Amino acid sequence: MIDAAWLRAHPLPIPAEDDDKSARGTVQVVGGCAEIPGAVLLAGEGALRAGAGKLRLASVRSVAPHLAIAVPEALVIALDETEDGLIAPGAERALLPRLSRCASLLVGPGMPEDGATALLHALLRHMEPGPGVVIDAGALGDLAANPDPLRRHHGRCVITPHAGEMARLLGMERDAVSADPLAAARRAAEMLGVVVAMKGARTWVVGPEGEALLCTHGHVGLATSGSGDTLGGILAGLLARGADPVRATAWAVWLHAEAGHRLARRMGTLGFLARELLAEIPAIMADLS
Ligand code: AMP
Ligand code: MG
Repeated sequence: MIDAAWLRAHPLPIPAEDDDKSARGTVQVVGGCAEIPGAVLLAGEGALRAGAGKLRLASVRSVAPHLAIAVPEALVIALDETEDGLIAPGAERALLPRLSRCASLLVGPGMPEDGATALLHALLRHMEPGPGVVIDAGALGDLAANPDPLRRHHGRCVITPHAGEMARLLGMERDAVSADPLAAARRAAEMLGVVVAMKGARTWVVGPEGEALLCTHGHVGLATSGSGDTLGGILAGLLARGADPVRATAWAVWLHAEAGHRLARRMGTLGFLARELLAEIPAIMADLS
């Protein structure tokens, strides 16, 4: 069970007083499209709120300048864009030279499935194993069709599907995933050699060897637009700080859940925004240290 006692027994890496920002790692977020420009912003801010040292965002060219203004803390990379406002095939070439300097990579927020897994695969093929990788939303689409690029990064990747995304990934009905989410998570973890955060009202965290942790601390107000993007960003931030993938995932899930409880107490059960979760994260981490 992921609770305060488990988290205190499995602490996050603590920065030394004289560490500079590179000691807490650079997070690279890749995602977005003309119609969903904000998911990358939510994820990127989540990474910084979780304590990552530096942030890079990569999104379609029409969105990039707006992101750069909205997130002045980030370096922003503009990717070639299709007529439909999606990241163009081959656009990742602008990113490849920079991957060696990132400590974690988050791919998929705000991306439809069209071409998203191909983009992820291109990045995984190019990147030396080592950095933590978070795979969410659109990038989960075709993962099962070709697990090879993930094998190079065995145990370093985390996937964060909700029941619908998991159903698609495993070729199952959504109801079947919801009936036994732990079994679905174990199947995906074993098949792909990844850590799985099987999201829902209760969230399972399953490692590639089948080890399972459960978070029952969720809050119904977390079921809101953009919520998963903030979770992916928090997780990428904790990976960049050097937490191992299972620990980073358990922490991210719990911090996200607790942020929901704190907002609900102050604002009411429903109606807080995904972006408002993020400012809660530093104080929650401090309370657990
Ligand atoms: P996404 O669907 O990707 O935006 O992610 C939704 C987030 O909200 C995940 O972290 C879920 O675990 C969480 N969530 C969704 N529904 C509930 C619920 N009823 N109670 C608690 N957490 C939830
Ligand atoms: Mg999502």
